[in-house]
Amino acid sequence: MIVCAHVNPDGDTLGSMLGMYHILTGAGKQVERACNNTTPPQFEFLPGHEGVGPNLAEREWDLIICHDASDIKRFGSVYEDHKDLFERVPSICIDHHVTNSGWATCNVIDTTAAATAEMVYYFARDLGFPIGVEAATCLLTGIFTDSGSFQFQAVSPRTLRAAADLVEIGAPLPRIAHETWRKKTFASVRIWGAAFSDLKLSDDGRYCWSTVTQEMLRDNAASFNELEGAVSHMSGIDGPRIVALFKEAGRDEIDVSFRSMDDTDCTVVATKFGGGGHKKAAGCTVRKPLSYAVTDVLAEVAKLVGSAEAVAV
Ligand code: 5GP
Ligand code: MN
Repeated sequence: MIVCAHVNPDGDTLGSMLGMYHILTGAGKQVERACNNTTPPQFEFLPGHEGVGPNLAEREWDLIICHDASDIKRFGSVYEDHKDLFERVPSICIDHHVTNSGWATCNVIDTTAAATAEMVYYFARDLGFPIGVEAATCLLTGIFTDSGSFQFQAVSPRTLRAAADLVEIGAPLPRIAHETWRKKTFASVRIWGAAFSDLKLSDDGRYCWSTVTQEMLRDNAASFNELEGAVSHMSGIDGPRIVALFKEAGRDEIDVSFRSMDDTDCTVVATKFGGGGHKKAAGCTVRKPLSYAVTDVLAEVAKLVGSAEAVAV
């Protein structure tokens, strides 16, 4: 079996995928951990993270289980380099995104779950698979990170019960909180500061945005991954309805993160540019030079929040 996480992996895709990995290997299965990227440093405390990467062994795989991805393209090179495998081998997609297209052979989608890891926990529990401390640590990391440390609207009694059960099994909540939320590299605080300093507000105050260029990353000796989390802090800004953070991942490759402060639906804009996500948190990749990406995306943001016209940048 192959378990997959999406590109530029976050805590939920990695936590749910590695949780599933431990559950299935515990049941005697041979399991490969596939992801376009290797594990980002902040998740290196996760048991089993060291086997995560883009290379797949040549074997007759019988099942692909995909975690937290609403679209098959979210697997990046894992999909692009093995399209035949994805066509030949049955796939299960476990996901909680409203924008999920139902692309797999079997789609297990619950848009009320706070995290994909919450779904994996109940899946394993209900089918009677033993859940050890390693799986519990990975799954609680997925729930903790994707629920905004249990703060988001999607957190339900069901989410908290899953978390409580995982803590009871032995998942170290204080360590998970420290590793994924409190602990920061020097460079990440500097690049967050640069991103916050660049913040701009539309004339009517309805939306705000910031940009991070490759040059800013270089100047602060920061890697792209160190931007993770910055946009969530911007979503606390009182006043505007939506914030967009434009991150230059490479030449003509702009990753955009959206967060809404009210009930504005971020997926409306994200899906216009081939992305997806949740109502209050979505993203997309725009393959254009930064200034064009900013102009085009902000025009759609302005439309969404009913601004008279897009602000020239
Ligand atoms: P973030 O801004 O933290 O990268 O992503 C916010 C949410 O939007 C996450 O749930 C993430 O999975 C989703 N998302 C981000 N970028 C993309 C994208 O390019 N395509 C799709 N389908 N979803 C995305
Ligand atoms: Mn998720």
